[in-house]
This record gives sequence, C-alpha cells and structure tokens, in this order.
Amino acid sequence: MKIYKNYNITVIGAGHVGLVTAACFSELGNKVICVDNDKNKISKLNKLIMPFYEPDLEKLVLKNFKKRLFFSNSLDYGIRNSQIIFIAVGTPPKEDGSSDLSAIEIISREIALKLNSYKLIVEKSTVPVQTGQKIKETILRYKKNNVEFDIASNPEFLREGSAVYDFFNPDRIVVGTDSKKAKEILKNLYAPLKSKIIITDINTAEIIKHASNSFLAAKISFINAVARICDLAGANVKDVAYALGLDKRIGKYFLDAGIGYGGFCFPKDLEAFLYISKKLGYEFGLLSEVKKINETQKLYFVEKIKEKLWILKDKKIAILGLSFKPNTDDLRFAPSIDIINYLLKEGASISAYDPKSNEAAKKIFKDNIYFAKNIYDAVKNSDCICFLTEWEEFKKIDFKKIKKLLKTPIIADGRNMFNRKELEFLGFEYIGIGT
Ligand code: NAD
Repeated sequence: MKIYKNYNITVIGAGHVGLVTAACFSELGNKVICVDNDKNKISKLNKLIMPFYEPDLEKLVLKNFKKRLFFSNSLDYGIRNSQIIFIAVGTPPKEDGSSDLSAIEIISREIALKLNSYKLIVEKSTVPVQTGQKIKETILRYKKNNVEFDIASNPEFLREGSAVYDFFNPDRIVVGTDSKKAKEILKNLYAPLKSKIIITDINTAEIIKHASNSFLAAKISFINAVARICDLAGANVKDVAYALGLDKRIGKYFLDAGIGYGGFCFPKDLEAFLYISKKLGYEFGLLSEVKKINETQKLYFVEKIKEKLWILKDKKIAILGLSFKPNTDDLRFAPSIDIINYLLKEGASISAYDPKSNEAAKKIFKDNIYFAKNIYDAVKNSDCICFLTEWEEFKKIDFKKIKKLLKTPIIADGRNMFNRKELEFLGFEYIGIGT
C-alpha cells in the first residue's frame, strides 16, 4: 500500500466549503484545525452539532473529531500550528456586484503578523482574478520577519448536496501557483485522490473558477430561453435538451429547463465575473443576458400559474421544495424565495414543505406562510401545487392521494420533474416550463 505524506493544515471558515474540506482532509490522514470566527458555530461543532445539512459530512466529522480534526475560534492558534492554510471564508456579493473580500484581507494581515514558520496560503474561496496578488502584497506589507511563504489558488468545485462525494471524486483539481515548493506540497496533498491536477499561474486558476460557474449558468439560461420558445411554439424542451445533450460537444448536463439557478455560487460568481471583466476593460454582455434570463424566469413561472388560476388573491398555493437544490438545506438565493414573495404580493396564501429547510425558511418568512409537516399536510385544500426543488421524496408522491386532498388538481412543475401526459391522465392540469 502506498503511504502518502500528511500535513498540518488549517482551514479558515467552517462553512459549506471549509467544513467539508477540513473533514475530508482529516479523513485522508492530515491533522486539520478548522477555524471560524463564529463562536456559536465552533461551540456547536465541538459538541458535534452540524451547522448545516450535507450528506455524509456528519459521519466524517464524528470519525475524525479530536483524532485528526479540531475546531477553534483562534486564528492565531490555527496559523501557528499549520504548514498549509486554506482560506475558505465567504466572499459575498456587494451591492455593485463586486465580491466582498474584507474577510480575506483581514486574514491576510493576521497571517502576516503570525508567521512563525514557512506557510503555504491557499485560496479556496471563490475570488476575482488578481486576488492572490493582493494577498501576497498584503502579507509582504505587514509581516514582521523573514519567514518565507507561498500563495496558491485552489478553487473549489464541490456541489452542495454531494460535497463529500465531490471532494473525493473531483473531475479535476486546479492549482495555481508560481512556486515550485507550493506545487509539490499540493500535489502530495491531493495525491490520494488520484485525480487530474491542472497546474497554472494564480490569475489563470482564479479565472477558471469564475469561467466554470458562468459557463454552467449560461447553459441553464440558454435552455430556459429555448423553453420559452418551446412554450410559444408548442414544442417540448425536454426532447430538445435530450437531443442537444447527445452531441458530445454540448454534453447532457445543465440542460434542465425550470425556474432558473440559485444558491450561493452561480448568481454571485456570475455577478463578480461581470464586475471584474468590466473593471479590467471588457464588457461581458453575454453574461448580462444570462443573468437577465435567470431573473425573469421566476416571474415567468408565476405568470403561468396566474394564467391558469386567473386571480391569485385568496388562493392557497402549496410549495413543495424550498432549498435551491435537493440534498441541502441552503436557501441562499433560492428561487423559491422570490417566487413565494411574488405569490404573497398577489394575495395568495402559502403552505410550504421542504424535507430539510423548513427551519431555515422560518427565519425568512416568519408567520407569513404556513410550514407543513409533510407533503400531504402542505397540499390539503390547496388550489395548486408548485414543485420548486427536485427532492427524491417528491418523485415518489402518491398522486391519487394528492388529488383527493387538493381543492383543484393543478400542478405547476418548476423543475419539469414529471410527465405531463401521465399527470393529465390522472386528471391533473399540468403547468411545465417548455413542455
Ligand atoms: P459559508 O457562508 O457557508 O461559510 C463561510 C464561513 O466563513 C462562515 O462560517 C463564516 O463564519 C466564516 N468566516 C467569515 N469570515 C471569517 C473570518 N474573518 N475568520 C474566520 N471565519 C470567517 O460559505 P461557503 O458556501 O462555504 O463559501 C465559501 C467560499 O467558497 C465562497 O467564496 C464561495 O463562493 C466558495 N464556494 C462555495 C461553494 C458552495 O457550494 N457553497 C462551492 C465552491 C466554492
């Protein structure tokens, strides 16, 4: 059996990326300190309470906790006791679309002041191109000794809902660095994953991440635009997408028409890429259109429901699925939020159910909507059911039972999960997107 080299690692940020990265590196045999400035989060993690739902994460944390995986609030402790420091803090969008990099700047200064031995500082957060350069300049400006350090960009491609699987089975690992030593360390660190490692300079690695997410968002908006033409012409977008996807140059993924993309990555990364492109002197008009299509897609869906129900005031709408995608409780930029707000504005009452994110949604909607215990509780006496997230649980629904519970058997399928003909055969009126 091949023995891999292990490292002392600190991961800064115990969020969807940081916590998964920390747990997975500890599983590979490294000693990992996961640092977060959210005291409540760290205190809960030290009691083995997970801050969010992610399949298989809890298992890994329980297995490695206090053997190779430690949680701390102290950045100082994390910096001093590691050779590799991954920065995995949030880079949220600002009003103007640019990324808020203030956490990364604070951490860079902190690292500069605490440099006690060689450190490899790795950007894992998604950042605009040239951020690595800024981190380096900041550390050089504030450091107090001659201790060496290197910077690398190692963008993360994991998907919430399958993050642990994605960590261990990446399509590729991107490492951007100008340092031979950093390159060797990261190659050794990732060697157990036996994945293709792409080595580039830092700027290129940073652009790879923004370009990847923007391209995926563009694919979704493209098929959503095609779906609208299908609606107008009486064609079926599912068949169009299937035929398109069989062309190897196009590929079958991310061609599902629906209510558009959401989540913490696509909307903000697209916005940040638009912003940085403009700042550098290029107006990325294609991405502006991708964004516009996505934003109007939610309203388009509500308009279709309105067309069917005529007046929404005093109608009861059952919302099935709130999270921006299945297998996560993450509601950040979830299309469900805008759709529910549109429906509420029209005077509809909402009864919602999500297998994992009811609790998180209560913080957003408070008492303005009813949170149901299960699917059947949600649909009782409703005028229409809207499917907004394609959870597996919904695919197994007993539609005959549902039909008896509904006031009027209307289904608005925001994810094109179901077959129109099958539901119409059961006596439902069906609203799809481009189908
Ligand atoms: P998150 O909000 O879930 O987690 C960020 C964590 O950083 C929080 O726990 C926060 O308390 C902590 N933090 C913020 N400032 C800090 C500081 N100064 N010191 C210590 N901790 C601090 O965010 P996330 O979803 O994990 O995303 C992190 C980064 O990874 C972002 O740049 C994001 O774009 C990128 N990314 C996210 C995903 C995803 O699917 N969520 C995928 C790939 C890349």
